[in-house]
Amino acid sequence: MNSNPADPLDGRIVAMALGDMATRFSLEVIEHCASTSSVLLDRAMPDQASGSVVVCERQTAGRGRRGRSWLSAPGDSLTFSMLWRFPPGMLPPAGLSLAVGVAAARALEGMGAAGVRLKWPNDILADGAKLGGILVETVAHGGQHVAVIGIGINVRLPREIAEAVDAEAGALVSVMPYAPSRNLLLANLLKALGEMLDEFGRSGFAGFVEEWLARNAHAGARVSILAEGADPIEGRCAGVDIDGALLLDTATGVRRIVSGEVSLRPR
Ligand code: ATP
Repeated sequence: MNSNPADPLDGRIVAMALGDMATRFSLEVIEHCASTSSVLLDRAMPDQASGSVVVCERQTAGRGRRGRSWLSAPGDSLTFSMLWRFPPGMLPPAGLSLAVGVAAARALEGMGAAGVRLKWPNDILADGAKLGGILVETVAHGGQHVAVIGIGINVRLPREIAEAVDAEAGALVSVMPYAPSRNLLLANLLKALGEMLDEFGRSGFAGFVEEWLARNAHAGARVSILAEGADPIEGRCAGVDIDGALLLDTATGVRRIVSGEVSLRPR
């Protein structure tokens, strides 16, 4: 794979950087696909091992929430997905998308990224600009919840992406002292995801609330919650609940906003 000769995706380098944790993941590097999450979701679920990872150089139809697109550029972006099985009988993994945000922030900060913030429910920001997106899709199989966790990161930001998106986009290189290797970035993100998922399996999102709040991009800010076909809900961002719901301080009291169909916008 040599789409960017300076920094080609290479499974062997990722495995070396993972060290002892390499055995937890089965990594497949592919040149192009519509969406790494779709690749994992389309495969026969019962046969797909926990820790299966697909990373792709040219993702042509990356997905965000509610049919939105995630744009990426060969060599400049990191786009990958990981499949994870939760123990049979475990409740649906509420708040997983936010816990993934905490794991991603830990990994980016560990590599020297400054000012990483999380925007409820699933964006990674720095300096007010979106440099990463998270999409968690969950399916149930025979009493077991299977999550496909998709992450897209702008390592660098080509002008065509900056101009195509409706909110301000950012890039990792702008908040790091050096341009990170995408292989090392992937290894660090996988390590952080593995550690987070162990913790999440024991106590759910509750154990991540404090860390999420410490990076809340809109802590205490006045925000609007937008939903299609409904009036915006205005309030002050008062934190998140142990299931990942946003706590919105409104004129009529604190309301719980559940993600999925709504978007948060600063006022
Ligand atoms: P919000 O919560 O702000 O409404 P969202 O969570 O619905 O956003 P996502 O599903 O995370 O959005 O991502 C899709 C959106 O992200 C697109 O509509 C586009 O505006 C923006 N986007 C797409 N690709 C990129 C990118 N590479 N960098 C930054 N932003 C992007």
